[in-house]
Amino acid sequence: MLIVNDDHRRLAGVLSLEERCKYCSKAFAGYPLIQSDDADQTVYHVVCAIELATEIMVDLFTFFSPPAPYNRLFVLTTSGTAPAHECKSFDSVAANFYKYLT
Ligand SMILES: [Zn+2]
Repeated sequence: MLIVNDDHRRLAGVLSLEERCKYCSKAFAGYPLIQSDDADQTVYHVVCAIELATEIMVDLFTFFSPPAPYNRLFVLTTSGTAPAHECKSFDSVAANFYKYLT
């Protein structure tokens, strides 16, 4: 959830902008902020949330496409019911994601 004012901040459980971001440990100090959808509903600076999401995506990419000499542990496939032209490999999905980031 995007937090852009004091009402949103209070609803997210952040009592003041002097509270610290769990990712960078700096005071929130201003808006916008982002509240995650995880069980803890942690609040981050927007830049910290983007950095965290990017780190997760990079880790996932490495997990599914490990560098040589390691082999893939998993290959993403569809159930086999979709026509081949509708199947997308993880590499093509990841490549589109990186294009989006750059
Ligand atoms: Zn932060």
